[in-house]
Amino acid sequence: MTDFLDKEQIDRLWHLISSARKILIISHTNPDGDAMGSVTAMKHFLKSKKIDSLIVVPNCYPDYLSFLDEDKDIKIYKTQKAAVEEYLLECDLIIALDFNQLRRVDELEKILRNSQAKKILIDHHPDPENEYFDLVISTTEISSTCELLYWSLIAMEKQANRDNPCKMDLSTASSLYVGLMTDTNNFSNSVFGTTFQMASDLLMLGVDKEKLQHYVFGGFTESRMRLLGYLLQKKMVILPELEAGYIILTKEEQQQFDFAEGDSEGFVNMPLNIRGVSVSALFTESAENIRVSLRSIDDFSVNDMARNFFNGGGHERASGGKLFMPIDKVPEYFTESLRKMKKIITIVLSGLFILITGCTKQDTELQLAQQIKDIDSFTKSQVAGGKRLVVNQGSSRVIIAEGEGDEITAGDSVTFDFAGYVFQSGLGTLFETNVQEIADNLGINIYNRGFDFGKGVIGKGMLIDGLDRGLTGAKRGEHAYIVFPANLGYDKKEVGLVPKMSPLIFEVWIKAIKKN
Ligand code: 5GP
Ligand code: MN
Repeated sequence: MTDFLDKEQIDRLWHLISSARKILIISHTNPDGDAMGSVTAMKHFLKSKKIDSLIVVPNCYPDYLSFLDEDKDIKIYKTQKAAVEEYLLECDLIIALDFNQLRRVDELEKILRNSQAKKILIDHHPDPENEYFDLVISTTEISSTCELLYWSLIAMEKQANRDNPCKMDLSTASSLYVGLMTDTNNFSNSVFGTTFQMASDLLMLGVDKEKLQHYVFGGFTESRMRLLGYLLQKKMVILPELEAGYIILTKEEQQQFDFAEGDSEGFVNMPLNIRGVSVSALFTESAENIRVSLRSIDDFSVNDMARNFFNGGGHERASGGKLFMPIDKVPEYFTESLRKMKKIITIVLSGLFILITGCTKQDTELQLAQQIKDIDSFTKSQVAGGKRLVVNQGSSRVIIAEGEGDEITAGDSVTFDFAGYVFQSGLGTLFETNVQEIADNLGINIYNRGFDFGKGVIGKGMLIDGLDRGLTGAKRGEHAYIVFPANLGYDKKEVGLVPKMSPLIFEVWIKAIKKN
C-alpha cells in the first residue's frame, strides 16, 4: 500500500461505505476538474457496488466538464435547494471530496454542520477540518484528490475482496483521469511518481486519453481563443522587480468575448511561462466580487498569500480566493500584497539570521510582517475550531455567530457594540469598549465618549481602517472578532493604553445597519 494510506483507515472507509443506506457526495464551490472528477468517480464506483448515491455541488460546474454529468443528475444547491436539503436530511453518510474546510461549500456549510450523518473527507489540501469528520484521508504529497481517491479505492477493494479484487470500471477510471489531468495542469505541476503509476493503470483499464484531453483542454470556442489572445496582448502585466505577472478580466470584456464559466481555465498559468516570472494572478470580475486565482513556481506560497490577502486558500502553488473592491484598485492591492508577502519571507529568513548572528535589526515593515503572520496563526486556529473567516484588505473577521439580512457596504451607517484589545496572540490588553459590563468586569476605567461611540458610516474614514474594512460584509446580529495589524490601527502613535505599533483585535456585535 502507498505510504500515505494506512490499513485501519481503509478498513474504516469500507465499513462506513458498506453500512450506509443513502450516501451524499459533495465537493466545493466553483467545482473544478478534480472536484467533478472525484465526485463522479465516487458515484460510479458506488454504483458498481450497487450502492446508491447523490452528487451535490454548491454552484454550477463549467460547461467543459458537463460530459462528466452523464445522466444529468448532479444537484446544484444554488438552484435546487429543496431537493438537496431533503436528501441531506435523509442521508446517513456524507463523502466530501477535494476541499479541506467546510466554508468552501458556502451556503451549504450550515446545513452540513447540523447533519447527523457520518462524514468522510478525502482531500489533498493542507489543514483539513478534522473535528467535523468521522474519517479523514488527507495528504498534500499527492497530485490531486482523484489520485488519493484512486489509491484509497484500490486499497479498499484489495482489503474487502482479498481473494478476488474487482477491476475498476471504465467510468470510474475515466472520471479519475480528469482530475489527474486538470490538477496537474496536464501533468506538468504537482506530479509524483505515484501519479504516473496511476495514469498508467488507468490507460491499461481502457481510459480514452485523447477524448478526455480534447474535452478538457481542447475544443476552445473561437471567442475563448480570441479572449486569450486579447488578454495576453493587452492585459497581461509583468512586474519584473517582483518576479510576478497578472491579468485582470473585467465584466465588460467578458461580455465582449461571450465569456462562459470555465473559459478562463488555465489562463492564470500563462505568465509563469515567461522567464523570471514565478508568481502569477488572474482576477475575474463578477457580479458579487472579484475571483482571484494564484499560481507560483519555486517556493513562494500562494496558499499563504491567498489566506492573508485574498480571503481564500488552496495549495502552496495553486490557490484562489475573492476580493471585494472596485476592479481598478486591484493592481495596487496585488502589488502591495506581494511586497508584504516578500517581507514575510524576509522576516522568516531574518529570524534565522537573528538566531545565527544574535543581531536584532527590526524595521517597521518587518514588525508588520510578523504581526500579519501572528494574526494568520490566530485566525487559522479559529477556523480550525469551525468559525468562518472573512479577510477584507488586510483586516480579518472571524465570525463567532452569523447575522442576517443585508451585508454592510461602503456608505452604510452602522451601530455596533465593541470591545477593543491589543492583539497578543488573542485578546490582550482591553483599551476601549462601549459595553459597560465588559469595562466593569475587567475593573478597567474606560472613558466613555458618549452615545456616538460604536457608530459610524463605513468607507468615510470615520472609523480606523481595520474596523472600516473588517466591518464591511458583516450583517445585523453578527458577533465577530475583527483583527488587523498596526498600520490599519493607530500605527506609530501611542493612544491611551495602546502602545505604538500595536496590532488590534475588536470583539464586535452588530446592532443596526442603515443603508444611506
Ligand atoms: P483556481 O485558481 O483554479 O480557482 O483555484 C486553485 C485552487 O485554489 C483550488 O484547487 C482550490 O484548492 C483553491 N481555491 C480556489 N478558490 C478558493 C477559495 O475561495 N477559498 C479557498 N480556501 N481555496 C480556494
Ligand atoms: Mn484538487
